[in-house]
Amino acid sequence: MNAPVTTNNLDAFWMPFTANRQFKKNPRMFVSADRMHYVTAEGNKVLDGTAGLWCVNAGHNRPKIVEAIRQQAGELDYAPAFQMGHPKAFELASKLVQLTPPGIDHVMYTNSGSESVETALKTALAYHRVKGDGSRFRLVGRERGYHGVNFGGISVGGIVPNRKMFGTLLTGVDHLRHTHDLERNAFTRLEPEHGVELAEDLERIIALHDASTIAAVIVEPVAGSTGVLLPPKGYLRRLREICDKHGILLIFDEVITGFGRLGTPFAADYFDVTPDIMVTAKGLTNGVVPMGAVFVKNEIHDAFMNGPEHMIEFFHGYTYSGNPMASAAALGTLETYQEEGLLTRGAEMAPYWEEALHSLKGLPHVIDIRNIGLIGAIELEPIAGEPTRRAFSAFLDAYNKGLLIRTTGDIIALSPPLIIEKSDIDVLVDTLGGVLKSLD
Ligand code: PMP
Repeated sequence: MNAPVTTNNLDAFWMPFTANRQFKKNPRMFVSADRMHYVTAEGNKVLDGTAGLWCVNAGHNRPKIVEAIRQQAGELDYAPAFQMGHPKAFELASKLVQLTPPGIDHVMYTNSGSESVETALKTALAYHRVKGDGSRFRLVGRERGYHGVNFGGISVGGIVPNRKMFGTLLTGVDHLRHTHDLERNAFTRLEPEHGVELAEDLERIIALHDASTIAAVIVEPVAGSTGVLLPPKGYLRRLREICDKHGILLIFDEVITGFGRLGTPFAADYFDVTPDIMVTAKGLTNGVVPMGAVFVKNEIHDAFMNGPEHMIEFFHGYTYSGNPMASAAALGTLETYQEEGLLTRGAEMAPYWEEALHSLKGLPHVIDIRNIGLIGAIELEPIAGEPTRRAFSAFLDAYNKGLLIRTTGDIIALSPPLIIEKSDIDVLVDTLGGVLKSLD
């Protein structure tokens, strides 16, 4: 039996992105999990409507992953990551690049989405340098973009509270406007009709600084953390065209969209737009062991391989890059995805998911519903002067009713494990409907 949670031993852990004082008065603890459900310290079952934090794509406690980690721990616990290798990291890389779009056959490992973002930005800057184009130092992000919490990521990111306490950040960063437009696009299923013209922001930024100073543009194909914001039809393709025209690299942050979330292995496949660099983490190991991966186009990788053979090509990496335990977990995860067809299962479930979510239209305070693949959001009208309060009370009520949702501002975000069944979707939507009806 697990030790009961008491409020007298919670002080030491300063929790991330959490209202610590509120939490510690009324803690919510998970003590075990299996497939679609968590179990709380009080013994209640909670349906996982968010795949943990958008990462447990294969559901919880999956035997292949558990076994892979167990075996690895007894075989090779750690190996130095620099100037040494171990077979699983290479096996994993070879398998991963079979999933990526053509022309992207190389991968660097990290330990998180944030580190993947930093790795991608540094790779983009260094790529131009190795090509003799050192004047390209500027980066372009987007408002409402989330690219983790490290300095590069918050600089290109577009979330004010994540940035404003931390000084000057990276210089030479511009932001595209975000594409969220409730006036024109509310209750659109899949990609919004309106907003492709916002991609022209990139031409405006280029006109201001000159293309010869711009290294890369980074966007989430579907912005997750700020509320599941879908790209308007044609928007990503237009960004790709503008980048190509001006020799600028396009980076997709696929930390959430990677590994099946949209019903395709990557969002690049869904939108049929291939970036130069793809940033991933989360679903790579089913969230079980921290790990990220950055995929780069062959011409980027090859550009670094020109110096003398004994020389290090890129001065970057982590003690735990390709860590054996993480590599084993990722291999177990890939096997599970492939055996169960999970990287495309979202496409089969998406129509049912879409109908179910949109059945909540008309409930009090619901001002938008959006969906793509197995991800969705319900936007609530904020209470004047008290932003986030309404959604946060929905979160608490849902938890008490046995459903885990995630909220950001006044938006409820949903991204269940890709093993979800129609009956789970029914429970999720019924529970959420009950929550929304009782909101004030
Ligand atoms: N990029 C995106 C798009 C994300 O959603 C996240 C995490 N939610 C990150 C980067 C950062 O990942 P991590 O928390 O693993 O550092």
